[in-house]
Amino acid sequence: MLQLPVYLDNNSTTQCDPRVVTAMLPYFSEQYGNAASTTHPFGWIAKEAVEKAREQLARLINADITEIIFTSGATESDNLGLKGVFENYASKGNHIITVATEHKAVLDTCKHIEKLGGEITYLNIKEDGLIDVDELEKNIKRSTILISVMYGNNETGVIQSIKKISGVAKQHDVLFFCDAAQAVGKIKVDVIDDGIDILAFTAHKIYGPKGIGALYVRRKNPRVKLISQMDGGGHEKNIRSGTLNVPAIVGFGKACEICMKEMTTEANALKHLRDKLEHNLLKLEEVHINGNKEFRLPHVSNLSFKNISANSLMMQLNRKIAVSSGSACTSALPEPSYVLKAMHLPHELANASLRFGLGRFTTEEQINFAIKEISETVTKLRNENRTFNSV
Ligand SMILES: *Cc1c(COP(=O)(O)O)cnc(C)c1O
Repeated sequence: MLQLPVYLDNNSTTQCDPRVVTAMLPYFSEQYGNAASTTHPFGWIAKEAVEKAREQLARLINADITEIIFTSGATESDNLGLKGVFENYASKGNHIITVATEHKAVLDTCKHIEKLGGEITYLNIKEDGLIDVDELEKNIKRSTILISVMYGNNETGVIQSIKKISGVAKQHDVLFFCDAAQAVGKIKVDVIDDGIDILAFTAHKIYGPKGIGALYVRRKNPRVKLISQMDGGGHEKNIRSGTLNVPAIVGFGKACEICMKEMTTEANALKHLRDKLEHNLLKLEEVHINGNKEFRLPHVSNLSFKNISANSLMMQLNRKIAVSSGSACTSALPEPSYVLKAMHLPHELANASLRFGLGRFTTEEQINFAIKEISETVTKLRNENRTFNSV
C-alpha cells in the first residue's frame, strides 16, 4: 500500500537517510565530547569525527579540508560569505552583483548590506531563468568586489552557466560567491573546475540533518579572506565561533559520502521519474514547463497549469501529495513567486504554478499516483471554473 501523503517537496528539505541517522547516533550519547577539548579523549574522539566529516565534505566538492567552515546551514553560509567579503574588501570597493532570482538568504543579506553602504546590482534573467553573462560583465565596475550567482534555482531547478560566470569574474579580478544548496550532492559541483571562490551548501537538502551547513572558502588562487560574523571562542579558524554540533557534522559528512558514491545513478533515476511525471502532466492541455529544459537539475519540475489556482490545487491535493507553489504564502495574501515573475511569467500563470521536487526515496509507484491524482484534480477544477464562468 502506498503511504500518503506522497512527498514531492524535496527542494524544501529531504528525509534524513537512515544510514546518516545510524552514523550520528553514537555522538549523541557515548561520544559526547566537545571537539575543542584538547585535554582528554572525549574531545579527541569528537575532533577526529569532525575532521573525518570535513574530509567527506571537501571530497564531494573537490576542496581542501582547510577550506571548509562549518555553519548552521546555507542561510548562515550566505550571510557569512556575503557580509564577510563586504567587510573585508571594503578598501577595494563596495559593489556586489547578484540576481533577482537568488534565494531570500542571499537577497535579504544584500538588502542589509545596502543599509551598511553597499551598492548592489540585481540582474534580471531571461525567460528561461538563465542570466545573460554579457550583461553581467557590462555591470562590473572598478568598485565591484563580488559576484553572487546561485548554482541551481530552488524553485525551477535552472542551472546557471557557472563556468562562464566564474571566467568573467576572474578576468575582472572579482570574487565569485555561489549558493549551491540545491546543486551539491545532486549534480557534479567542483570548486576548482567551476572556478568558485566561496560556496554555500547545507546538509538537509542532501538527506542529512537540519541545522548544519558549510561554507567553502578558497585558500589559493586567490586566497579569500572573510570577516567573521559570529565572534567568540575562535572555532573554525576564527571565522565562525561556537561549539561544533558534532552529531550533525558527522551526519553531514556521511550524507556527502553517500552522495559522492550514488549521485550519478540517483540523478539518472530521478531524471527518468521527473520526465515521466512531466510527460504525462503535459498531456493535460495548457501545461507549461517553467525554466530552461536543458540546464535544469534532474529532480526538479516547475509546471504552470493554465486556468487553475495553484492554491486550490494544493488544497485539494494536500492530504495526498505534498508539493509547494514556490510562492511565499503569507497568510491571507498569496503572492506569486518572485522567481517566476522575474522570468516574465504573467501573474495568472505564476499563480497557477507548482514545484515538484523528487528525491532519493521517491518511487515509480508514487509518481504514477501523482500523475493520476493531479490529472484528475486539474480536470475537475477546470470543469468547475468553466461551469462557474458560464453561469
Ligand atoms: C534551502 C536553501 C537555502 C537555505 O538553507 P538552510 O540550510 O535551510 O538555511 C539557501 N539557499 C538555497 C538555494 C536553498 O535551496
